[in-house]
Amino acid sequence: MQPPATGNLFTVSAPSGAGKTSLVRALVDRNKDLCVSVSHTTRAQRPGEENGINYHFVDRESFESSAKNGEFFEWAEVFGNLYGTARTEVTARLKQGTDVILEIDWQGAEQVKAAVPTSCSIFIVPPSLDTLRERLQGRGQDDNKTIESRMAEAKSELEHWREADYVVLNDRFDIALNDLECIIRSQHLRRENQATRLSDTLSAILSN
Ligand code: 5GP
Repeated sequence: MQPPATGNLFTVSAPSGAGKTSLVRALVDRNKDLCVSVSHTTRAQRPGEENGINYHFVDRESFESSAKNGEFFEWAEVFGNLYGTARTEVTARLKQGTDVILEIDWQGAEQVKAAVPTSCSIFIVPPSLDTLRERLQGRGQDDNKTIESRMAEAKSELEHWREADYVVLNDRFDIALNDLECIIRSQHLRRENQATRLSDTLSAILSN
């Protein structure tokens, strides 16, 4: 009897406005064995966001105490706010065989890669800085000052595309979504994953 396969861990990083949240949402909608982790953050809730759905919104004191107690799988300071992935969002699901996606910045992606070298890091690139600005303005969630500071940060976040295993251009949404699905599928087909899934088949063939 083959042991159950553990889930795969993916990180998806991108500058703000590159469309990663919409892409990841569509990916999870279409692939029921995938789940997305809900991060903790100290940033203010935006209009339309729901606590426990978009983020777990917490104050700085409670975040720092969780970080000190080692409750985060990874965490980082981004735009002056703290963001982190609770261990409870990841470990049990992977053990159950569910794939988990973390939508996190490059600092978090770096920590995850160091902790789980078999995890798969994906970077989403917008077609241009102008498109990024239009998307940030279009979602109507941030004031101009916030948008300008996010544009300034976007370039430095983009520098980190080189560290990712896969890079996806989000120009046409449907193409980018298809690219993400191909990456997930290719991760399933990696030898390490197939060795578990196909162990009975392979031993039957090879024992003859
Ligand atoms: P936003 O405030 O626009 O939702 O997110 C700002 C940045 O924080 C984005 O780059 C987002 O990916 C990143 N982020 C969100 N959650 C986490 C997390 O749990 N850990 C880390 N390291 N970054 C996160």
